[in-house]
Amino acid sequence: MSACLTGMLCGVDGSANGEYPSVLKLLKYHTVKLIPFCPEEFSFGTPREMCDIHGGNGMDVLNGKAKVLTESGIDWTEGMIKASKKMLEVAQRENVELAVMMDISAACGSEVIYDGNRYAEDKKYQIGTGVCTAQLLKAGFKVISQRDFAALEILYSKIDDTHIINTDAIDHNDGDWYREYFNTKK
Ligand code: SF4
Repeated sequence: MSACLTGMLCGVDGSANGEYPSVLKLLKYHTVKLIPFCPEEFSFGTPREMCDIHGGNGMDVLNGKAKVLTESGIDWTEGMIKASKKMLEVAQRENVELAVMMDISAACGSEVIYDGNRYAEDKKYQIGTGVCTAQLLKAGFKVISQRDFAALEILYSKIDDTHIINTDAIDHNDGDWYREYFNTKK
């Protein structure tokens, strides 16, 4: 799991990037082995600059077609790829069954990321993954985000016999914001 989603203070500003009850509940199950990892902290420490992907998505970064730049323009591409390899190593070593990743991050984003600098006046989002999620997907790992509420409902029902699935829950890509912004149809 993206470490910040577990409450670890590894965000760029030394915070946990907010609180996400949808996945925090996972911490209370003794039957779940949860491995938190923050790829950006691994490569760049905390606190650190904000970074975003320019010229493509996480997969493009791995393929040498896009770059990771900090808000001040420093090229973090190499460090981010190194971090993604470390995350993959951890996932393989621990035989991870499912990765739960913080969406929007240039490292951990699993569905939506910024398209270039998030602080630009004309900031844009794109459908795509961050670099570390791309590395995990490439190796065959399953990934969901903290906003995939329908998938999380299924997950909770698998690990908790008493969990009653909320059938109204929807995944991020079925949500109003996503559908409106990316003009996708139901
Ligand atoms: S790199 Fe991932 S785990 Fe680390 S703070 Fe950003 S979203 Fe969270």
